[in-house]
Amino acid sequence: MDHDPADRSTLYSCDLLLKEVVQTTLNKRTGHMFKSIGWTWNPCWGCSHECKYCYAKKIAEKFECGNFEECHFRPHFLKDKFPNDGTIIMVASMGDIFCDGMKDHWIEQIIEKCFEATNNRFLFPTKNPSRAIDWLPKMDGLQQRPIIGTTLETNRDTPWSKAPTPTERFTDLWYSTDEHAYSIHDTFLSLEPLSDFDMLTLVYMVKKIRPIAVEIGLENYTHFTETVSDFKICTLLRWLKHYRIPYVLKKNLEHMEAACFG
Ligand code: SF4
Repeated sequence: MDHDPADRSTLYSCDLLLKEVVQTTLNKRTGHMFKSIGWTWNPCWGCSHECKYCYAKKIAEKFECGNFEECHFRPHFLKDKFPNDGTIIMVASMGDIFCDGMKDHWIEQIIEKCFEATNNRFLFPTKNPSRAIDWLPKMDGLQQRPIIGTTLETNRDTPWSKAPTPTERFTDLWYSTDEHAYSIHDTFLSLEPLSDFDMLTLVYMVKKIRPIAVEIGLENYTHFTETVSDFKICTLLRWLKHYRIPYVLKKNLEHMEAACFG
């Protein structure tokens, strides 16, 4: 990257911005992501988890970028300069850096690159936290604590995806936290796209993982998940408030804050 990425954020129409997410380097945060996330960075893209609702795959297909299920490495992204603006950089928003299709030597180079940042934190979202945790020793010494994030659409099985089950994701991430081990990282949770769930089990999972924040949203473009009642969403939000766990509602749930808490 040869110019300040902060200069570019407002220059693109929605479609061009989507294209940029696929084809260029650091991209300024858009939409209703957790506010501390300043940038997305996609030095690799693609994913072998084959979630049927995957929006990244739709973008890749739209712009004819290649087979999404085959993972791709873009070493030229490693020439970027990080903004060091105190924000969080989300790594691989267009795929899953820790899915089985990503090669070890790609991951190694990407993590090594992260050591150049002095004032950015890196968020590694993955539906395979087990592999992310195997890489934590390589992240030891980053200037800012890395964040390992995972998705719990529900506490139940997810027949729409080949990723590890929510129970496996939860167990792996929980066991990496300070409750069980000396941890060098924080955690983040995405409850998106939220699918019908068992209240006490899901709340227990979230509480045990103790994420720095939770993002919650519904499925926008497909219909693979099971509808969740407004009452249930309100109850979930009340639990999160009760446990003082910060949450961010995606656009399609934004109205629930007023609906639930007046
Ligand atoms: S894990 Fe994420 S990137 Fe991979 S297929 Fe599922 S939704 Fe898409």
